[in-house]
Amino acid sequence: MQKILNYIHGHLTEPNSRNYLDDINPAEGKVYCQLPDSDRKDVNQAAHAARLAFPEWSAMPVKKRSDILLKIADLIDRDLEKLALAESIDNGKPLKLATELDIPRASANIRFFATAILHFSSEAHLSDNEAVNYTIRSPLGVVGCISPWNLPLYLFTWKIAPALASGNTVVAKPSELTPMTAFLFSELCMEAGLPAGVLNVVHGLGDKVGQAINEHTEITAISFTGGTATGRKIAATAAPMFKKLSLELGGKNANIIFADCDVEQAINTSIKSSFSNQGEICLCGSRILVERNFYNTFVEAFVAKTKRLRINDPLQADTDLGALVSEAHMNKVLSYIELAKLEGGTVLTGGKRVVVEGRCSEGYFVEPTVIVGLDQNCRTNQEEIFGPVVTIMPFDTEQEALELANATAYGLSATVWTENLKRAHNISHQLKSGIVWVNCWLYRDLRTPFGGMKQSGVGREGGLEALRFFTEAKNVCIRL
Ligand code: NDP
Repeated sequence: MQKILNYIHGHLTEPNSRNYLDDINPAEGKVYCQLPDSDRKDVNQAAHAARLAFPEWSAMPVKKRSDILLKIADLIDRDLEKLALAESIDNGKPLKLATELDIPRASANIRFFATAILHFSSEAHLSDNEAVNYTIRSPLGVVGCISPWNLPLYLFTWKIAPALASGNTVVAKPSELTPMTAFLFSELCMEAGLPAGVLNVVHGLGDKVGQAINEHTEITAISFTGGTATGRKIAATAAPMFKKLSLELGGKNANIIFADCDVEQAINTSIKSSFSNQGEICLCGSRILVERNFYNTFVEAFVAKTKRLRINDPLQADTDLGALVSEAHMNKVLSYIELAKLEGGTVLTGGKRVVVEGRCSEGYFVEPTVIVGLDQNCRTNQEEIFGPVVTIMPFDTEQEALELANATAYGLSATVWTENLKRAHNISHQLKSGIVWVNCWLYRDLRTPFGGMKQSGVGREGGLEALRFFTEAKNVCIRL
């Protein structure tokens, strides 16, 4: 059986313990490879390697650093098919999605930050002709990057690319549920000539490897994407150590649909924003709010389209929804559907596990599910389910839509469908979420700030925000 290895100091290495964990193919429900069950010792070695590599990497001319990263991006493009297949097998997502979204975005992330760093600049301030101030931005040193399982290589590269481009060295931990593409990425780093120790990838469990990263005294910053509960744990350890923290956490995003929308676009895109990647995207609009005079029309059309989605073997070209990432996650999603019924909801379509014929008969598939009749304050409408489950609620006025949209502990993203420009601006400005899409969803320009309000996170990633996070500002003031 294939074994994934850690990537420490430029080498693929076994964990010190020689213990391994099972990696499951969720579409088959079977173990298909093994990954290191690493511990604090491995993290210490990785941090040591990163510390040794820091002086040379941070002092390297920016153009040279950029060229190495661009080479890695080229190698991702070269291996697109191999990486997409690996991602689909490891995560359960449709191969088509991995081929069209995950892997192209991984190379785009690297390319974006490899070139952004060439244009990164800092400020200078002339003070009343008496003094001149200029700001130096230096890399932080060794930083930790911890990423989740839903968009494995996409989010792994989104974190490490700005960290490396700005001259830091990295200890990274991918999710133990989806380690494969980070492992294949380690091989590409070696091939591209990334100096030893600049990037170190330690595989294993969150409470062992992740916690050791949080606690390591030489790791000066942590960039984390994952659940809100994990973010809280990381902050509890890292904040008293005064580490810099960027936390990209969960969401319970509203998709607000006014009767004056472009109906076809609103319905088609809402299908995507509800069920893409089996609903396992932090930006999915899991609470659909529809203006009452359009509610019945929308619900009828939305449910009809949902019923036409194909749940099948992720490797089939026409599959819309693949498998959920794990048996535990599938059971969590199914338990929320049962909870929704207890809370008074009506399941209009879906609601059950699906048995796919053939090699996927043991896989973790769940029907795309639409629930109505729930109160805004119930748990189903307040807690992140992170699966192919949406609720639909009616509203009467713009003010009510806004209140419903903002009435959760989360504040990651929101989507608004209206042809009324004034309303679009007005509601966008009042939504308490870090990202608002009007008449579109998941349209991403990598230069824009990305992140959540309230319990959806702390800090912003993307563009210059990420480069600023991974550098420390120092002001020099010279009396003229
Ligand atoms: P988790 O929070 O469970 O895990 C994320 C990562 O953190 C994993 O690598 C995990 O390791 C690790 N981890 C777990 N415990 C600790 C710890 N104590 N210290 C350090 N690291 C730890 O999230 P999921 O992987 O389940 O991802 C789904 C969540 O991510 C959802 O809530 C989703 O909304 C959120 N998300 C947010 C995004 C955003 O940009 N805001 C984007 C994508 C997802 P292990 O896997 O071994 O447990």
